[in-house]
Amino acid sequence: MSRPPVSYYRATVHESEARPPPIGRIDAAVCVVGGGFAGLNTTLGLAERGVRDVVLLEAERIGHGASGRNGGFVFGGFSRGEAALLRDLGPERARSLYRGTTDAVELIRQRTMRYGIDCERVDAGVLWTNWFRDPEILRARQRLLADAYGVEWQWLPAHRVRELLHTSRYADALFEQQAFHFHPLKYALGLACAADAQGARVHERAPAIALERAGSGWRVRTPEAVIHAQHIVLSCGGYLANLQHNVDAGVLPIATYVMVTEPLGTRLDEVMTTRAAVYDTRFAFDYYRALPDTRLLWGGRISICNRSPAAVEALLRRDLLKVYPQLRGVRIDYAWSGLMSYARHEMPQVGRIADGLWLAQAFGGHGVAPTTFAGELIASAIAEGDSRWRELGHYGLVSALKPVGLLAAQLNYWWLEMADAWRGRNNSS
Ligand SMILES: Cc1cc2nc3c(=O)[nH]c(=O)nc-3n(C[C@H](O)[C@H](O)[C@H](O)COP(=O)(O)OP(=O)(O)OC[C@H]3O[C@@H](n4cnc5c(N)ncnc54)[C@H](O)[C@@H]3O)c2cc1C
Repeated sequence: MSRPPVSYYRATVHESEARPPPIGRIDAAVCVVGGGFAGLNTTLGLAERGVRDVVLLEAERIGHGASGRNGGFVFGGFSRGEAALLRDLGPERARSLYRGTTDAVELIRQRTMRYGIDCERVDAGVLWTNWFRDPEILRARQRLLADAYGVEWQWLPAHRVRELLHTSRYADALFEQQAFHFHPLKYALGLACAADAQGARVHERAPAIALERAGSGWRVRTPEAVIHAQHIVLSCGGYLANLQHNVDAGVLPIATYVMVTEPLGTRLDEVMTTRAAVYDTRFAFDYYRALPDTRLLWGGRISICNRSPAAVEALLRRDLLKVYPQLRGVRIDYAWSGLMSYARHEMPQVGRIADGLWLAQAFGGHGVAPTTFAGELIASAIAEGDSRWRELGHYGLVSALKPVGLLAAQLNYWWLEMADAWRGRNNSS
């Protein structure tokens, strides 16, 4: 079946003309490379602090990367789990970093209101459903979050989960009430407009093709312009910029997949009555949510391979029917993949890597709030000399050991996927 080569998100935004690329010599205080959430949040954070002389360069269109293709879950935490964070950093520093992401969830909510960004925000929380029959999985995480991080997730018994989600796949669940979900591409475009309106210059179809030192600052070249800036922020995620070898070498680009069904109308109630977004306790979890037009957005899998829409649909349809067999025969209108960027330590790489050269990358599959947090850290560092970004210093720019690292990531995923399946079999009652 042929289907448009665009995501549901791209198909449902008002596609205006691309913002023009820069031409000629341009002087700026800051040049941000990459128009995903990391770059946009840094640019807006700078503008909000009065640094308006900022140029943002996006190689394609705003939100072209993971930021405009993701599941739309806005929740606290990082790709690295809370227990590991605690082991790495101890209680005080771990709590402070985690707090940065829950504050970011609130900041995103506030920005949607302050800037009137119509991004279909659904304040219905996120459910973490238990694929396994062992209630201790949820209880342990609930205790850890409460005791070490001061965060309360509500426990829901299995019968309540069945009322909300019409499947026998899950046992109990935890509910993260503060979380929400939204249309990420509409939000990204809204951030770009908010930054523009405050004087930042946002350019599309403007790939940075070279980066060099120039006196005490830096020079960035695009096909038609040369930008001189005191500060450069590299925020290109898994869509590697090819500007600095050690920066690209620091991340593994890993694909994950999403599909969207036809509008389900009243059939949606046969699947779920909650409007919370949902993911489950497996390492290789499904993630999904109802969209305002009664479609179901369904995501999952990670891989080192990008796949065609037809292949993505085939894989995800199988996963969907495992949970909701009542949707057999449903039409899939959109399927796409996107690249996440992972560091070996599963934490973002954020901070100054040379005088005036800043980095915000490696947000993994859990990046909407952390990119906002990172944008705040870098913006306040440049504008106000704030040194809080050093709190992430434990997780620096280390090599991802490609190509061996890529292969290891894929093998690790398959191994953990098998472990999930084995555990699910042993646990099913
Ligand atoms: C399918 C999918 C589902 C996900 N679901 C969720 C979710 O539900 N919740 C969540 O919290 N996280 C989720 N994530 C992760 C989250 O989307 C990312 O962590 C986050 O968006 C990363 O933002 P970023 O700005 O670092 O990178 P990106 O959004 O990838 O942006 C990088 C940008 O840099 C541009 N670029 C690259 N090179 C150059 C250059 N030389 N010059 C100029 N521009 C350049 C690219 O075109 C791209 O637009 C998901 C990711 C994917 C792929």
